[in-house]
Amino acid sequence: MQDKPVALVTGANQGIGLQIAKDLVAHGFTVLVGSRNLERGEAAAKEVGPDALALQLDVTDQASIAGAAERIRKEVGRLDVLINNAAISNTNKTPGMSIQEYVKTTRPSNVSLDEVRAVWETNVFGVLAVTQAMLPLLREAPAARIVNVSSGVGSLTRNSDPASPWRSIFGPVYPASKTALNAMTLAMAIELESTGIKVNAACPGFTKTNLNNYAGTQTVEEGAREPVRLALLGPDGPTGTYSNADGPLPW
Ligand code: NAP
Repeated sequence: MQDKPVALVTGANQGIGLQIAKDLVAHGFTVLVGSRNLERGEAAAKEVGPDALALQLDVTDQASIAGAAERIRKEVGRLDVLINNAAISNTNKTPGMSIQEYVKTTRPSNVSLDEVRAVWETNVFGVLAVTQAMLPLLREAPAARIVNVSSGVGSLTRNSDPASPWRSIFGPVYPASKTALNAMTLAMAIELESTGIKVNAACPGFTKTNLNNYAGTQTVEEGAREPVRLALLGPDGPTGTYSNADGPLPW
């Protein structure tokens, strides 16, 4: 069994997940770099350094999830932190299509249900499935933490305010998937309250990554800050919260 604490970051082969992996290694963790494509995971783990190990993990594939949990149990023997970071923003936005154009084709009245299902499969059901598979290991850890990487665009409070700048892009695909993820976060936190396992949702902020065609305004170092802070919470830290680097967000 590992002496060092162990963290699993899903979707860590690029973007904010890769930076979270680097930061957690710097904080003394052994980090499992989850990647649906093993080769890309191996390249990322090499970039992170000797305390990183690539783990094939497609969050929409039950066999891949079960295989990852089994490998952690057999080869690593412990899991202290789970960062549910993997997500997609769409499956059918064509190259060159602006966000505004995509939003027009994905209103509740005209969105393809296949598009909603595909995005929710990764961003919501994938998180629940990975968490269920990893919980037996997390329950054995002395002070486990789960961080769900959400987004401010999922805030119902903000989107119900007519003055909110994000209101016009609130729709059933990505934004509502993050609202549902927030609900899952609270449900997990409530169930696990008595165990000491803390479950919180973090918004990284608008960050330059593949997810938004590198249109974000923050660096990945800035984007990783809040998820990493929540991964490192001490025994007095909160559970069932939703925040970004500036503080609490309204649900
Ligand atoms: P990204 O660079 O596109 O990274 C997303 C990661 O998720 C990639 O590694 C991707 O793998 C992985 N992924 C997608 N589907 C997967 C699946 N089925 N199984 C396993 N991994 C899968 O985007 P990012 O911006 O770093 O996103 C990280 C998190 O931050 C997401 O939860 C996102 O919603 C959230 N977020 C981002 C922003 C932003 O402005 N960037 C803002 C708010 C919230 P592949 O490389 O194989 O595609």
